[in-house]
Amino acid sequence: MKAAEIRKTFLEFFQSKGHTIVASSPVVPGDDPTLLFTNAGMNQFKDVFLGFEKRPYTRATTSQKCIRAGGKHNDLDNVGYTARHHTFFEMLGNFSFGDYFKHDAIQYAWELLTTQFKLPKDKLWVTVYSEDDEAYEIWNKVVGVPAERIVRIGDNKGGRYMSDNFWMMGDTGPCGPCTEIFYDHGPEVAGGPPGSPDEDGDRYIEVWNNVFMQFNRTEDGVMHKLPKPSVDTGMGLERITAVLQHVHSNYQIDLFQALLAAAKKAVDEAGAGDSDADSPSLKVIADHIRACSFIVTDGVIPSNEGRGYVLRRITRRGIRHGYKLGARTPFFHKLVGALVEQMGEAYPELRQSEKRIVEVLKTEEERFFQTIANGMEILDGALATGVKQLDGETAFKLHDTYGFPVDLTADVCRERDVTVDQAGFDAAMAEQRRKAREGGKFKMAAGLEYSGVPTVFHGYDHLSQEGAKVTAVYVDGA
Ligand code: ATP
Ligand code: MG
Ligand code: MG
Ligand code: MG
Repeated sequence: MKAAEIRKTFLEFFQSKGHTIVASSPVVPGDDPTLLFTNAGMNQFKDVFLGFEKRPYTRATTSQKCIRAGGKHNDLDNVGYTARHHTFFEMLGNFSFGDYFKHDAIQYAWELLTTQFKLPKDKLWVTVYSEDDEAYEIWNKVVGVPAERIVRIGDNKGGRYMSDNFWMMGDTGPCGPCTEIFYDHGPEVAGGPPGSPDEDGDRYIEVWNNVFMQFNRTEDGVMHKLPKPSVDTGMGLERITAVLQHVHSNYQIDLFQALLAAAKKAVDEAGAGDSDADSPSLKVIADHIRACSFIVTDGVIPSNEGRGYVLRRITRRGIRHGYKLGARTPFFHKLVGALVEQMGEAYPELRQSEKRIVEVLKTEEERFFQTIANGMEILDGALATGVKQLDGETAFKLHDTYGFPVDLTADVCRERDVTVDQAGFDAAMAEQRRKAREGGKFKMAAGLEYSGVPTVFHGYDHLSQEGAKVTAVYVDGA
C-alpha cells in the first residue's frame, strides 16, 4: 500500500463510522498565539473541545500537516538520528467532540489496525495512563490484548523515561490521559518496549496515540474539566506506512524515495560528486525540504525571529548537511520540484506556491552560502583543539557573524561528541544586546537616528506573497 492509499483508507474508515472528513488546517495556526506551528491534528479543533465553538458534526477525521521544530513538541534535533522523527509529518486523526469516548475509540483503532491494515496482533503493544483502569480493562478484556503487552505509564513527572501518557498540546489548552499503540519492528532493531529504560530505540515504535480529552489546563496550572469528555487521536502517516511497507525506517517508505534521490542528485551536482546514498545527511535534507516548503507555502519567510527564525534554522540546518557531503553551491531549493511531484496532489497549495517556495529558499540559500565556508572553518578550528565543550563566545560569533543558528552549531558538535556551552552563548547574546542598547542611547544623545540592535542592510528581496511587493530585509550580523 502506498502512503496515499493509507491516508485514504484511514479517512474512509472513519467516514464509514460516521466521521466527517475535514481538510488539514495550515501549518501556521491562524489565531492561536500559544502555538508556533500546528503540531497535532487537534489544533484546529481546540475551541470545539473547549466548548467555545460548535461544528455541524460531532465526529471528524483529518490528515493534518504538522511541524514539530519548536515549542513544546520539538523534534528538530531528532532528525537524522532516529528512524521515526520528522520536522514535518502528516498526522492522521479521528475526533469525537463529546460523542464517543474510550470504548469506541479503542475498538475503532484496533479494528482499523488488525482488520483493514491486517497487522499481526502479537506485534502490537499498548500503553495506558497509569491510573486509567478503564482503558486497561478495555484493552485487556474487550479487545483481548494480553497483559504482557499492556504497559502502564505515568505522566513522566520524574522525567525518567521518554514515555508520557498524559498528552498536552502546549503548556495550556485541552489535554488528557492517553493510550498509545506501538509496533514491534523485531529484534534486529535496537530498543526496548515502552516504559523500559531503553525504550528510546527504534524497535518498538509508537504509531498511534489516542487521547481522552478531559481537561483544559490554564496558565496557572489548574486543570478545568472540559464540558464533555472527548477523543483526539494522532497516527503518524509515515510511521504506519513504514509498518505496512515492511520497512523499518520512515525514510524507506515510498513518499521519501524520490526525495532522497533528488537530494542526492542535487548535492552531487553541487560539488559532492558521489555522496553515500545511505548518509543520514540526505535524510535530514529530504526531511527539511518538506518542512521548509510547507512553512513557506503558509506565508512565512526566513527572518531572525519567531516563525521566520524557525524556518531559517531548518533551512540552514539542511544546507549544512549538504555542505557536509561536499555541496558548495545552492542545491536545497532544487528539491522543491520533486516534493511537489510527491505531495502536490494531496496538498494542492504546495503546487500553487511552487515558484515562490523556490525563490524564497534560493535567496536564503545564496545568503548562507556566502558565510558557511568561513563559519565552518572557524568551527572546525575550534573543534580541532579536542575540546569536549564548545565555548559560548565562539558559538555566539558563529551566530552573529556567520549566520549559524546555535542548534546548527550544536548539530555539528554532536557529530563529534562535543556539546555547546549554551549558558555562555546566552550570556554573549545578552551582552551584545546590552551594548546595542547603550550604542542606541549614545546615538540618540548625539542627535542621530536610533537603531536599536546593529543591523546590516542586505538589499531588497522580492519575497512577498503575490510576488509584487518588495520587502526590505535587514539581518542581524550576517
Ligand atoms: P514520540 O514519542 O515518538 O516522539 P510523540 O509521543 O511525541 O511521539 P504524539 O504527540 O503522541 O507523538 O503524536 C501522535 C503521533 O504522531 C505519534 O504516535 C506518531 O505516530 C506521530 N509523530 C509524532 N511526532 C512525530 C514526528 N516528529 N515525526 C513523525 N511522526 C510523528
Ligand atoms: Mg515526541
Ligand atoms: Mg511518545
Ligand atoms: Mg505520543
